[in-house]
Amino acid sequence: MNDVIAAVSTANGTGGVAVIRLSGDGCLDMAKEMFSPSEKNCAYEPNRMYPGFISGEGFKDYGFAVYFKSPRSYTGEDVVEFHCHGGVQICRGILLKALSLGARAAEKGEFTKRAFLNGKLSLAAAEGVVDMINAESLALLRAGGMLYTGELTEKVRGIQSELTDVLAAIAAEIDYPEEDIDGLDMEKIREKISSVRNETQTLAAGYSRGKKIKNGVLVAICGKPNAGKSSLLNALLGYEKAIVSDEAGTTRDPVEGELQIDGVKYVFIDTAGLREGGGKVESIGIERAKNVVSSADVALFITDGNDEPPECINGELIRVFGKCDEAEPHGNYDIAVSSETGEGLGELLKRISSVAMGEGVLEKSFIVEERHYDALKRAADILGECAGNAAHLTCDLLAVDLRDAWSALGEITGETASEEIINAVFEKFCVGK
Ligand code: GDP
Repeated sequence: MNDVIAAVSTANGTGGVAVIRLSGDGCLDMAKEMFSPSEKNCAYEPNRMYPGFISGEGFKDYGFAVYFKSPRSYTGEDVVEFHCHGGVQICRGILLKALSLGARAAEKGEFTKRAFLNGKLSLAAAEGVVDMINAESLALLRAGGMLYTGELTEKVRGIQSELTDVLAAIAAEIDYPEEDIDGLDMEKIREKISSVRNETQTLAAGYSRGKKIKNGVLVAICGKPNAGKSSLLNALLGYEKAIVSDEAGTTRDPVEGELQIDGVKYVFIDTAGLREGGGKVESIGIERAKNVVSSADVALFITDGNDEPPECINGELIRVFGKCDEAEPHGNYDIAVSSETGEGLGELLKRISSVAMGEGVLEKSFIVEERHYDALKRAADILGECAGNAAHLTCDLLAVDLRDAWSALGEITGETASEEIINAVFEKFCVGK
């Protein structure tokens, strides 16, 4: 028996329509107490919208009630949704009414947690829901969608099933050692483990791109004072974000701006001029700038064609010849731009996207959750060890390791996830989802 939980499922604020959701055993009876259907002898057929008056504490709103019968609902339990007008007081009043009838206010992500516990979706799919809701870019929305529709879960379950086959072959050997089972050719087993490990590693490798998609690609703009860094940031963002000044050393704190290129979020940071010998405040700025530049995925070095980029660059370097409206580009540079006329800016954005993410990023699959990457990496490491030691290990020990790898993968789908992991996942949800 699951108690009835209730929450406003739409965002807190005003809007045309809002949804209040109830889930759990007996929620239909509860809903009937607070709903007067316009239809006589209302049958509350599942998945049908019924118009009528919804009671709130001290008022009624005209809207709809929909009943979803277990197990064919989001949570897998009986669910009722009230679609009312989207006002803060309206939602609050209807929720209070449900609570007064015995429902409990849902915790963060509790509807989806119930869906997971009732086997409606995997843990990875639940994380996909959060990624979709929180997506700040098209790429992250698509990544969340892939998780939600089970693409990763399917791949992981495929790998787990291959491991199960290997384990079955080994178990047969342990159980019937006297029967010489041809199937247990150690070399074949080793090859199989090796191929499963490669599949796991290939999946894990998708995190290098996925991480940038999740956190945004960091692009640092660096170069000598007055090179035109702030102007370039402004020109790229299309609005005045940084202070532009003739006086060298005016940009002290890194100034940031965000932009989507090909559906991926990029965070641009304009750094203080990397020069020695300024005042104390400026030197703090320079230190910070060096940190930003060294941790950036891409460094745009604004050059006059003669100077060299700072040594602290660790990511991809693009040499940008600035102010090309003033001087003919010359010397060592990749792209010439003018923040004044806009020349070269489109080409620069394309170049940034190509060095940071490669071509056709939205078509590729990637891992965006660090938790999934950790589990894949752990499984791949164990399988690597197993493949290397297969010939020397006893069947029992090999089986223990293979089960560990299987179990690491199970953390992604949720099968072997501890309560702590599960709670941490649903902590990231909002109330009402
Ligand atoms: P920062 O110190 O590197 O951030 O440089 P700023 O962006 O503050 O620019 C320094 C000076 O160069 C300002 O007077 C800008 O107006 C000028 N400037 C920047 N970019 C361009 C450009 O593309 N063309 C021209 N003609 N002037 C520019």
